[in-house]
Amino acid sequence: MSSATCIFCKIIKGDIPSFKLFESDKVFAFLDIQPLSRGHALVIPKYHGAKLTDIPDEDLQEILPVAKKLAKISGAEDFNILQNNGRIAHQVVDHVHFHMIPKPNETEGLGIGWPTQKTDMDKLKALFEELKSKM
Ligand code: AMP
Ligand code: ZN
Repeated sequence: MSSATCIFCKIIKGDIPSFKLFESDKVFAFLDIQPLSRGHALVIPKYHGAKLTDIPDEDLQEILPVAKKLAKISGAEDFNILQNNGRIAHQVVDHVHFHMIPKPNETEGLGIGWPTQKTDMDKLKALFEELKSKM
């Protein structure tokens, strides 16, 4: 499944050039053209879908092994794997993609805000029961 208007589907087809690092039946990996650090690369399923929840499980199975390989070949000791879903979650391209972003120092690579929320054991337990019942 692909979309005629999607930039990453065009990259998969070769209609838009990319620095392709890996390709298989289900997965494609290439350098990010606006890198946050040296070696910043993307792994995508060939199956077109905007959000992680749109992609069949079998199209996701190779993603992490390829992200792991990208991390290894970059030589990064520290790195982040990032996958954004939705505009306010910083998603710009509506074709699922996993970033492998080396974190060579404090200033380069991914910067993260981590605004923890107040909670307590009773609230966590209630949430846990709700989620567990839906798993
Ligand atoms: P996100 O904010 O998670 O949607 O990230 C989209 C990423 O795609 C950004 O890091 C862009 O630099 C990258 N990107 C957009 N167009 C291209 C392209 N033609 N080739 C490689 N990377 C791209
Ligand atoms: Zn697409």
